[in-house]
Amino acid sequence: MLNQLTISELTAKLARREVSSREATQACLDQIARVDGSIHAFISHNAADALAQADAADKEIAAGVKKPLLGVPIAVKDVLAVKGQPLNCASKILGNFISPYDATAIEKLKAAGAIIFGRCNMDEFAMGSSTENSAFGVTKNPWDVTRIPGGSSGGSAAAVAADECIASLGTDTGGSIRQPAALCGCVGLKPTYGRISRYGLVAFASSLDQIGPFTKDVRDSAILLGAMSGVDPRDSTSVPQPVPNYAAALDGNIRGLKIGLPKEYMIGGLDAEVKASVDAAVKKYQELGAEIVEISLPHTDYAVAVYYIIATAEASANLARFDGIRYCARVDGADPMELYSKTRGAGFGAEVKRRIILGTYVLSSGYYDAYYLRAQKVRTLIRNDFLKAFETVDAIVTPTTPTAAFKIGEKSDDPLQMYLSDIFTISCNLAGIPGISLPCGFTKNPKLPIGLQLLGKPFGEETMLKLAHAYEQATPWHQERATV
Ligand code: GLN
Repeated sequence: MLNQLTISELTAKLARREVSSREATQACLDQIARVDGSIHAFISHNAADALAQADAADKEIAAGVKKPLLGVPIAVKDVLAVKGQPLNCASKILGNFISPYDATAIEKLKAAGAIIFGRCNMDEFAMGSSTENSAFGVTKNPWDVTRIPGGSSGGSAAAVAADECIASLGTDTGGSIRQPAALCGCVGLKPTYGRISRYGLVAFASSLDQIGPFTKDVRDSAILLGAMSGVDPRDSTSVPQPVPNYAAALDGNIRGLKIGLPKEYMIGGLDAEVKASVDAAVKKYQELGAEIVEISLPHTDYAVAVYYIIATAEASANLARFDGIRYCARVDGADPMELYSKTRGAGFGAEVKRRIILGTYVLSSGYYDAYYLRAQKVRTLIRNDFLKAFETVDAIVTPTTPTAAFKIGEKSDDPLQMYLSDIFTISCNLAGIPGISLPCGFTKNPKLPIGLQLLGKPFGEETMLKLAHAYEQATPWHQERATV
């Protein structure tokens, strides 16, 4: 079925004129019609607009135009601006907002010929690990609809896992691409901080946020990373680092590459089946000729605490703009203060309010030094741990999550338990380094995907992808499809 294809398979078929973009796009739309009632990966999608884009792509293909993503349907997390499409961040507060412009990442994908369609569900303002914090309802895991797909980019992960699109985009502030990719059995990549412009991304925590792809294999991840990377004058945190041909870097053997195994990551709460799969992956790397080196990241224990101070502090400032005056679904009041508080009280969900309160507190005078400033200092120590490790290793391997997908409702009343599900993904954002999650096995009963995380040097995506690709090609996991 066309909707099951990878980007590289579909573009090859399109180039040979074996299929049209309209047929591939229609196959995705048919799959949405068939399964999205039970998965709810999408908040909305516009079928007519998607097909019109596909027809335009087919005309270009017929005219001999060559573009790397020409005719490929790609779905988008509801936090990225796509001109003319709704933008809600899975919140009620944005009301009927329609994006007036394209995010840079979207502009680049459109220029490469992609069909940009659909608004993928997420935790409100990307705050969460389960997609249960959406004002538009919960997304279900395609491998078991009684379970969460992960979060915050749960809709984007589920849409790829359920073959409702060829690939999708998400964002990752503390694990929101890698964690749902692990739990849904797809490949999710968070680039180095500064690799992809965030212009047109609604900010959650600006010193941590990055955009990245969800794909069915590592090659597609490399393709989309290359298509979106590059410096952008509209995002001063984007870095003028040359963009390599990531897909070309995948092949070749990994003999002699050194992979670090952090001793601090084999924690108590690590599920036995997850541990067994990661151990087996480490063995596989040794068979493939890589050298495994035990490393230490001594400040790992502080990562979750540091993250929840820095991320909430930045969120409290970023979300101040939703005040009922400019973009929002306003609730009127007798004076501006009442208007603000009624609008924000009605518009934001419980988790977003919790974070704004926490973030405002850690930035308030008297507490700033004790919490925010100290967290910034520990963040530097965490980054230094990684930089020191990378003096001896080329990449680091860890589990992506401590457990496979948990049940819907299991952790939603316990924010701390929810926060701890990001224990392996958060340090990567604090350090600003790239990370990828790829399938490395399944739990037995029920059968749920398990993710392997690789972390790379700053702007070391080529080596990280090469290692991910070598493992993927030597194992069967990525070929398994969810039966929805
Ligand atoms: N789950 C983490 C949080 O709730 C990470 C979210 C993200 O990466 N956007 O903040």
